[in-house]
Amino acid sequence: MVPAVAAAVLLALCGCASARGGTDADTPAAHDLRKFEFVREKMGGPFRVVVYAGDESAAGKAADAAFARVDRLNSILSDYTPDSEISRLSQRAADGPMPEPVPVSEDLFRVLACGQQIAEQTDGAFDVTIGPFVRLWKRARELKELPTDERLEKTRPSVGFRNLRLDPQRRTVQLLAAHMRLDVNGLASGYVADQAVAAARQAGAAAALVDAGGEISVAGAPPGADGWLVAIQSLKNPEEMTGQYVKVRDACVTSSGDTRRFVEIGGRRYSHIIDPRTGLGLTGRIGATVICADGMTADALDTAVCVLGPERGIELIDNTPGAAGRITTIDGDRVTVYESKRFKQFLAEPPGTPGY
Ligand code: AMP
Ligand code: MG
Repeated sequence: MVPAVAAAVLLALCGCASARGGTDADTPAAHDLRKFEFVREKMGGPFRVVVYAGDESAAGKAADAAFARVDRLNSILSDYTPDSEISRLSQRAADGPMPEPVPVSEDLFRVLACGQQIAEQTDGAFDVTIGPFVRLWKRARELKELPTDERLEKTRPSVGFRNLRLDPQRRTVQLLAAHMRLDVNGLASGYVADQAVAAARQAGAAAALVDAGGEISVAGAPPGADGWLVAIQSLKNPEEMTGQYVKVRDACVTSSGDTRRFVEIGGRRYSHIIDPRTGLGLTGRIGATVICADGMTADALDTAVCVLGPERGIELIDNTPGAAGRITTIDGDRVTVYESKRFKQFLAEPPGTPGY
């Protein structure tokens, strides 16, 4: 999975209370809950799990369940490891189109299906078959040299979501062109964050937050609060905050942009987000934060809107049920912020403000 370094959102602290599904006889009362935080190296970066639980042992159990789920998903979705399920699947198209469909795990199917849905909605601006172009981007980053037009043209037939065939009944996948490579890094972290938070809740956490390095999924709310506060980081300077906070519960906040992951060649900055039409990284500076009940949709949208640009991007967010978002562009010294219709509903006062 993609190294978790492209964070444009940071967690802010907050108070305490209920959890998804309410409390039952075994759940400690809200005033008995304490906050515990665990950080482990996962998916190429620090992966943070915050839980509210009655004691350290209960908190540790919940965090272990969350991290175990992350490890499992990584073994399925990571294209950094050659023996992950997704890598082995792409390998089957190494010599030519796959002659027949192949059954896949439920997790992989779900992520690919969501990717295909967003690909349809964006006319391929978001595309999980982008792998061969991402390889060229990584090579360009190493060599500090853009791929030649010839190389781009040779690669093009191996990219295109219409050559990825999914069968939901049989839960199978077929890659219809040679040398295709699936890359779900644009949306998988949101899925992993959601799944990890659900695992923590299932293992007894009264409320939980998972920060997969820019993808923040929360379940319930800290005791005494009606949501978790998340601070939005600046696109221009990743060390700075925008000063804006959003409050969320049972939702995921994800961010994307070219703040940290880019390559500069010939005085131009090429983002790690690729425009499938050119095969090259985006050159216009853009970043986005998206909030959605479903993490992989939020994560797919944060990448998709960067490719689409602010106007079409905001339209896409507005047309996605329950979603909200904020897009920033930088042109020279000019910073422009675009907000979706629902974004204001999530805006919150900073921590420390009376009432928190
Ligand atoms: P994110 O940080 O969520 O925007 O995801 C970025 C990652 O998604 C990149 O590092 C690529 O692996 C992948 N990616 C790049 N361009 C695209 C695209 N146009 N559609 C889908 N995935 C992409
Ligand atoms: Mg994304």
